[in-house]
Amino acid sequence: MPADALKCKECSTTYPLEARYVCDRCFGPLEVAYTAPQSSAAELKRRIQAGPHTLWRYADFLPLEGTPRSALPTGFTPLVKADRLAERLGLGELWVKNETANPTHSFKDRVVAVALARAQELGFQTIACASTGNLANAVAAHSAAAGLPSYVLIPADLEEAKILATGAYGANVVAIKGNYDAVNRLCTELAGDRDDWAFVNVNLRPYYAEGSKTLAFEIAEQLGWELPDRVVAPVASGSLFTKIARAFEEWIDCGLLEGEVPKMNGAQAAGCSPVAQAFEAGTAVCRPVKPDTIAKSLAIGNPADGPYAVELAQRTGGGVDAVSDGEIRAGIRMLAETTGIFTETAGGVTAAVLAKLAQRGDIDPSERVVLCITGDGLKTIDAVRGSFEVTEIEPKVSEFDAAFAGAAA
Ligand SMILES: [Zn+2]
Repeated sequence: MPADALKCKECSTTYPLEARYVCDRCFGPLEVAYTAPQSSAAELKRRIQAGPHTLWRYADFLPLEGTPRSALPTGFTPLVKADRLAERLGLGELWVKNETANPTHSFKDRVVAVALARAQELGFQTIACASTGNLANAVAAHSAAAGLPSYVLIPADLEEAKILATGAYGANVVAIKGNYDAVNRLCTELAGDRDDWAFVNVNLRPYYAEGSKTLAFEIAEQLGWELPDRVVAPVASGSLFTKIARAFEEWIDCGLLEGEVPKMNGAQAAGCSPVAQAFEAGTAVCRPVKPDTIAKSLAIGNPADGPYAVELAQRTGGGVDAVSDGEIRAGIRMLAETTGIFTETAGGVTAAVLAKLAQRGDIDPSERVVLCITGDGLKTIDAVRGSFEVTEIEPKVSEFDAAFAGAAA
């Protein structure tokens, strides 16, 4: 399915496949447009199955010219059957897409792999980004593996683990005294001045966004080339959420999947929920908010793809819900205790929204549901601090026995 242009999402004006992201005519966002695939569904499937055990097995659906390669293998993460969590929530068939298994432990490795591969095709030598943390880790690691210098701009108050796990790769870490929206504005200005730098989520954004599709391709392949009935995924900018649905649409259109796009449920933190508020109000207009939540990786107060996320939730019969910081912490514990998967606060948001949907009776027991867990709990370790007790004793059997007298021998 060859990429043939960048196309404005608002007015459909097309542009060459360059490093650009905004329409000159209407200032709408650009996205990659493809021509219909030349191959049959059977041939496409054969090519995927013969491909590497990374996201590059879906290269036919990505905007790259050559055979893509990357020094840091990404994707092909587990889809875990979550029977114990399903039982706790009274659901039928539940799967967890475990994106913590990526090289820097979040789904951002996918978008960076695709943006970096395209940046290299376009001849860029310096990689940069505006990040709430996970993207910083991924840009630093993938740039290091490719031997390219990187500049990672983050809010100064980011979790320490995310800062340390970025600087460790030798990236230039730039902490901005402001929130993510301020970081993003600065990067947009810098990208205008430095046209020889690839800002993965600014001037390379159309390519970057395509990387998220591979998460959905994998879900469908791992379900035996079938669609789920419902997907619950986090909403920050709205890019991942909308691209998951786009991926399913592309595979339905070319005959790789049968059926309809799943019900799409978005998850936000109550302390930064412009998309959930818009959905609730029945409008696609997302009014910017000032974020205040422990889910910092979702703390985008002015989400670029917010209106498209609302429209998608409406169109598929899904929704967008918000949960409190307390519910987020409970969501992290619920997921860990029932699946063995320890997620960061964003995953706590997603798990808590799933619980909310289940409690509200929104999910039919016959549904096949996929919960997208996008990042690792070690990145936001403070979120579980104080949520359990550690038993400290002298190294004596008597003390152990005294502490655990009631436990089974
Ligand atoms: Zn336009």
